[in-house]
Order: sequence, then C-alpha cells, then structure tokens
Amino acid sequence: MVHELKVYTDKDIDTSKILNKKVAVIGYGSQGYGQSTNLKDSGVDVVIGARLNGASAKKAQAEGLKVMSIEEAVKWADLIQILIPDEVQAKVYEEQIKPYIRPGQYLMFAHGFNIHFKRIVPPADVNVLMVAPKGPGHTVRSEYLLGKGVPSLVAVYQDPSGDSKEVAMAYAWAIGAGRAGIYETTFKEETETDLFGEQAVLCGGLSALIKAGFDTLVEAGYSPYMAYFECLHEMKLIVDLVNQGGISDMRYSISNTAEWGDMTIGPRIITPAVKAEMKKVLTEIQDGTFAKEWMDEYNSGMKKFKELEKAGEEHQIEVVGKELRSKFAWKDNDKIINRDKN
Ligand code: NAD
Ligand code: MG
Ligand code: MG
Repeated sequence: MVHELKVYTDKDIDTSKILNKKVAVIGYGSQGYGQSTNLKDSGVDVVIGARLNGASAKKAQAEGLKVMSIEEAVKWADLIQILIPDEVQAKVYEEQIKPYIRPGQYLMFAHGFNIHFKRIVPPADVNVLMVAPKGPGHTVRSEYLLGKGVPSLVAVYQDPSGDSKEVAMAYAWAIGAGRAGIYETTFKEETETDLFGEQAVLCGGLSALIKAGFDTLVEAGYSPYMAYFECLHEMKLIVDLVNQGGISDMRYSISNTAEWGDMTIGPRIITPAVKAEMKKVLTEIQDGTFAKEWMDEYNSGMKKFKELEKAGEEHQIEVVGKELRSKFAWKDNDKIINRDKN
C-alpha cells in the first residue's frame, strides 16, 4: 500500500473559517479544557456547554470561560465540538443535542468512535467532521503555552456545506495544532488506529510493561524504590529522546552496553507471540467486538472498570511512586495536571 502524506501547517489555514464562527465546546474534561482555553487565546468566540453547577462548569468559569447548558450552547453555536466521554455521547446526543441541531451546523468530534460505529447518526444536512489531537488534552494546553502544539488529525464524514475540511483545519489551527502539523485521515482510520495505539502500545502496552518489569525486580528481592526508578521514572527520560530524534537518537545517548541489551534482548520481551496477540486485538477493534464489550461494560454499571482501576491504584508501584515524587525539588510548580483546576 502506498500512503500519501497530506500535512498542513499554519500557513495553509484560512483562519476566518473559525474566527467567524460561534463555537460550543461540550464538556470541560481533559480535551474540553485544553481545546477551549486554546480557542479562546486564539481569538475564537467560544462557550462551554456543560451541566450547570457541575464541577466542570465551575472549573471553566474559574478559567474565565462562558458556560451554558448543553441545549443552550447547541442553539447558540455554529460549530459544536463534542468533548464528553465516548461512552456517554450517544445518550447526550439523543436527548440534548439532536432536538436542537440545525441544517448547516458543524458537528465535530475528537475521536471517531460514535460516528464510525454508528452509535450517533446525525441528519444528512449537518456537517460531521473531526479534529483529534494526538495527545492528552492537558498537553494540548501545556504545549500551546510553550508556543508549540500537539499534532492533530482532521477528517470529514459528511459535508453538506462544502467547506468542512477548511473549517476543521481552522479549528485545528486555533488549538495550536498547525505549529506541529495537521494530518488528513478518515473517521474509520482514526477510530481503529487510535483504539489500537492506546490498547496495544501507549496505555495498555506501556502500563503492563512497566508493571511487569517492576514486579520482576521486586519479586527477586530488589528495593521497590530502585525498581520504580528503573522501570517507571526513567521511562519519560528515554521517551523524550525517542520523541525528539527517533529510536536512533535514544541509542546515540545511551551507553553501548545499554544499546547492545536493547537490540538483542528487546525482541525476547516483545516476542512474535506478542505481535500475534496485537493482530488479534486489531481484528477485535475492526470487527466491533471491542466497541461492543466496552459499551456493555458501560451499560451494566462499570463494575469491572472500577475494580480494575482500584487494583491499579493500589499497586505497590503507585504507592512507592507517590512517596518518591514528593522528594523532587520542583514538586508541583510545573505539573500539567491539577485536578482542582483542569
Ligand atoms: P473527560 O472524561 O476528560 O471529560 C469529560 C467531560 O464531560 C467532563 O467535563 C464531564 O463532566 C463531562 N460529562 C461526563 N458525562 C457527562 C454527561 N452525561 N453530561 C454532560 N457532561 C458530561 O473526556 P476526554 O478524555 O477529554 O474525552 C473527550 C473526547 O475526546 C472523547 O471523544 C475522547 O475519545 C477524545 N479524545 C480524548 C483524548 C484525551 O486526551 N483524553 C485524546 C484524544 C481524543
Ligand atoms: Mg483514544
Ligand atoms: Mg541503566
């Protein structure tokens, strides 16, 4: 397969496509916070649609943002960016958005899940588009403040107005993505690759790798503090190098001993069996098995979700990590996440 790279940066953007619009950001969680504050600083007329008097509404107001009910925000807006959790979007759409949506409005998503798996089916006269930052929402904000941006994907699902791609690109510019690169994709490709990435590599693969390494050292009698530094703390330092200059730059920086171990032992850890399992995981994403299991879990009360989350929080690595991080001289000064505010 030959893939053409379609990438846009700030110079390719008609910013009037977003500066002339009223934008409602629905939800003020990770992405809602990151995107709305950047939109505001870029000069976009933005309001937050949220449960009035809820914790998110209060955080948004404290940040100087205007807050409306979801229904009022939908009526007011030209463009609606849906930034509530994927699992609640279908219900909120049916009850609070669909009754007020108008022909020619732009209905936007940051992940294709509900459109691709047809849990939300908007009317044909509404534009359906996506701007999906390839990074956590809090980082969308922290990078913007550094004069950088998080690379973002744009996609168009239906386009009755004929300019949905330009609108998506202008929105992406306003959240800072044009400084890093705006990449064109489809709802199908974004949905399937995003789910695979977070399950197999970025979140699932990473946390399982960290914990397996930590447990191996601790079970062999080594100090959990040493195990924490080796398997968790250093991860960021290594990943920063990989992120900036690829695997080759990381190998340039580490010792020859580390590099030899990297190249010869790595494939013994991530074996062909692991890759075969990754392929199975990808198939379950593509055929809708994962989406069904996740929605069943949500609809039956999230019992297993909460159990697993709690077990994760109680794992020794979390306890040890909290203690060690409290010793760092820089403490909270530059923390990206502040749960009271964002
Ligand atoms: P989140 O869980 O951080 O935030 C959810 C927000 O929705 C909160 O303000 C919460 O109060 C509100 N909310 C929850 N239930 C609600 C309800 N029933 N009615 C009204 N408001 C409700 O969400 P998020 O992680 O920012 O994800 C938002 C979207 O962005 C999702 O589609 C997700 O896939 C996508 N996305 C997220 C990230 C990320 O960094 N978290 C990255 C890329 C894309
Ligand atoms: Mg995702
Ligand atoms: Mg070492």
